[in-house]
Amino acid sequence: MSNLNPSAQPEECLAAAQGAPVLQALPARASSLGGLSIRRALPLRERRLVGPWCFLDRYGPLSFLDSKPMDVAPHPHIGLQTVSWLLEGEIVHHDSLGSEALVRPGQLSLMTAGRGITHTEETPSSNSGQLNGVQLWVALPDAVRNDAPAFHHYTDLPIVEEPGGIVHTIMGPAAGTHHFSPLMAAELQIHHGHSLALPLDPSFEHALLILEGEATLEGQLLVPDVLYYLGLGRCAIDLASSTSSRCLLIGGAPFQEPVLMWWNFVARTSEELTAARDDWETNQRFPSVDAYRGPRLAAPSFVPRPKR
Ligand code: MN
Repeated sequence: MSNLNPSAQPEECLAAAQGAPVLQALPARASSLGGLSIRRALPLRERRLVGPWCFLDRYGPLSFLDSKPMDVAPHPHIGLQTVSWLLEGEIVHHDSLGSEALVRPGQLSLMTAGRGITHTEETPSSNSGQLNGVQLWVALPDAVRNDAPAFHHYTDLPIVEEPGGIVHTIMGPAAGTHHFSPLMAAELQIHHGHSLALPLDPSFEHALLILEGEATLEGQLLVPDVLYYLGLGRCAIDLASSTSSRCLLIGGAPFQEPVLMWWNFVARTSEELTAARDDWETNQRFPSVDAYRGPRLAAPSFVPRPKR
């Protein structure tokens, strides 16, 4: 068993369980980001949050020769962290703090927007011709969501080899990452014909997204591009794969604050969303990204009323 959560011993687990495990299959929906086709696994109509995780885009795998499949022009964020994780290829991140990072597979690019930041994400001119990864957002809790923005790039995250596979921690206590509410994320590799068992924190809700191959959980076949919501109260999961498989596991304590999302903003009220949009359109609050050549993205034309 991996050491993702050493405090959750089996004996303690049932007593600590706070909700019922489920295994709910929620198909991701096709969308696009710039010219890049993506599958959006969060938010979905049936599931807006998994702990503080509020957004999950899956892109690739794709191969290219002369094109630049990722070219996301300057755009603003508030109230969230962006998490970029690659399986193949590379992305260059620039932001209005002056940060520059070349993100490669196995490295975490973590941008904390706080009260406001501008960034770009691009395929670098020198590249492998591959692109395959995910981008997630974490909703920031009220106590820190208006703090100053920050950027962190992690190149040495914990990797644990198990008999049945590999656990690569992306975020959480084991990774020492910069985060603000109880959460975890890991990439799991299950070797061909093996199984991989992991302890989980039963006070977290969890979800799984298959990235490559297929896996089986409790007799159910799990396939790519479907978000499998696992609910609360799980002390462990035991995944098997007849192929070799890679998957993303996310989890966190249920996020107790109301979250409103619109465009690139995470807030609490529609007034906050409108103010952020107006500030972007009038060149306030969000500085420019000097490293990017080209126009910035325009905000959509209106803020819809929140659905309650
Ligand atoms: Mn962004």
